[in-house]
Amino acid sequence: MVKNLSFSYSKLGMYKECPQKYKFRYIHMLPEQPKPYFAFGSALHEVMEYIYNPANAAFPTLAQALDFFEKHWNKTSFDQKGYASPEKELAGYAEGRRIIEAYYAKYAAAFFHPLSVEMKSTLDMDGLSLISILDRIDYLGDGKVKILDYKTGKAVPSTPEQLYMYQKVAENSPTIKAMVQKQDPAVKELRVGQLSFYHLPTLKEVTFERVPDKEIFDFWQGVLQVADKIRAGQFDPTPGETQCRWCDYRNICPVFTGKDYNPAAAARQQAAPVAAPESEQDVLSAKIDRCGDLLEEAKQLQQEIIALMRKNHFERHFGKHFKAELARVEKLEFTDKEKVVDLLRTLKLLAKVLVPTQSTVAGLLTDASVPAQAKAQLQAFARKTEEDKLNIEKAD
Ligand code: SF4
Repeated sequence: MVKNLSFSYSKLGMYKECPQKYKFRYIHMLPEQPKPYFAFGSALHEVMEYIYNPANAAFPTLAQALDFFEKHWNKTSFDQKGYASPEKELAGYAEGRRIIEAYYAKYAAAFFHPLSVEMKSTLDMDGLSLISILDRIDYLGDGKVKILDYKTGKAVPSTPEQLYMYQKVAENSPTIKAMVQKQDPAVKELRVGQLSFYHLPTLKEVTFERVPDKEIFDFWQGVLQVADKIRAGQFDPTPGETQCRWCDYRNICPVFTGKDYNPAAAARQQAAPVAAPESEQDVLSAKIDRCGDLLEEAKQLQQEIIALMRKNHFERHFGKHFKAELARVEKLEFTDKEKVVDLLRTLKLLAKVLVPTQSTVAGLLTDASVPAQAKAQLQAFARKTEEDKLNIEKAD
């Protein structure tokens, strides 16, 4: 029997973003770096679960909710959460408190017990084992439920695709149906009445009516097509400025390395013992060799970066910490050294360049004390070519 493919909305999203990234994450099982927005979102989801937990008879006070948030937040350090510094982590913490306080000010008087919170559902359907976490399910009466998904980023998603998935899950879930029937035994059929994204930072809700069956059917066909491609091993990369900028796998991605990722070689490299230098001289020798190797590698990397940026028509591209800008710049070459020296003598500029090299002569063209006419003569004498100028500096 063929095993169901374990699938979720986030896996679907990652495959659509870049199949190669999906392969790194879910086939090679290489974890991503911690991200502050995941830590922040997870902490606020925990607080919402704490507030609405149907198992608790009384709702927590604001002070209890803030205390719960603080304890959850302090379980991990700033770098474990993916923050660049303790100050940035503190700003995240302050923002979390602000949101909880504002949430209480708006809703505390009307807190109610939903049907379920943070419900983890695994549903086997059409060859998929579909895993979803439904943030909150409210019972609207008459066999209808509302699925609510909390968002903690800058804005809510522009398309409600994620909610399509949740509608499909909710209407096929025997567990949710049983929960509804427990509250309302007369219910024969479970239907989604409303779907919503709830944006916690702004306390704004974007609500959608139940999505028509035809749209859900089309969406689901798309999901099954993605699943078929995964089963068929189709993981061609789809590079792009946005997705590659934030991708943790750039340094092993074939788009950037020019070669396929070899998990066995990577594992060998990780396991290889590192010989410790024995004396100070050994340390010095090792540092010289390492520095030389890095310089060589940097040169090689620059060539590869230029080639990839040219190929993809990028003028600018971002790493996680650095940005690269590529430009074509005019280059002047003074190839006939004797004639250059004669010209410099005639222009009375020879004394300015002690040794007439390419760079010292080219430097005269930007020297404010050299008359414009002399510059024009020198420029006319030069052979003009173009070259790639790659600038790599810290990203803002
Ligand atoms: S670096 Fe870009 S192309 Fe490579 S896996 Fe990541 S998103 Fe895909």
